[in-house]
Amino acid sequence: MSADPRVGIGLDSHRLEAGRRCVLGGVEIPAEAGPVGHSDGDVLLHALTDAVLGALGQGDIGDLFPPGDERWRGADSSTFLAEALRRAAAAGFRVASADTVVSAERPRLGPWKERIRANVAAMLGLPHDRVGVKAKTAEGLGPVGEGRAIEARAVVLLLPLPGDPTR
Ligand code: MG
Repeated sequence: MSADPRVGIGLDSHRLEAGRRCVLGGVEIPAEAGPVGHSDGDVLLHALTDAVLGALGQGDIGDLFPPGDERWRGADSSTFLAEALRRAAAAGFRVASADTVVSAERPRLGPWKERIRANVAAMLGLPHDRVGVKAKTAEGLGPVGEGRAIEARAVVLLLPLPGDPTR
């Protein structure tokens, strides 16, 4: 085991469908369409979960929570992030910072991004200034730009927990 910092990256995309709930970073946003997914389809939490798992070298969200598994149907994606954070702590790491980008043509996320950031920071146990949430459109290009999909990207930095004698 080494005391080196770790970084991880995550990317997630979901198709948007009319009438689905739209949950992003654990915040429900009023929208005409929401992501289709086996769970609640929260692309931001899925990307963050994958970033943490990647930094730990522990596979990806699909390995831990297979989409065909009935246990995760409609699941609150904070469950997935909590499990990744539990694994980080078990491996002797804490999340030191996280940066994210959400790409969507609709709903417009600008008015929501600070609330999403606060919620994600609380989930990660971090002060606000260690978490970034950027909201982008795709300038009308591709499935995101056409309003048919939503995407999120996340990068996390993990640092060793203080006081671990093995580090
Ligand atoms: Mg996903």
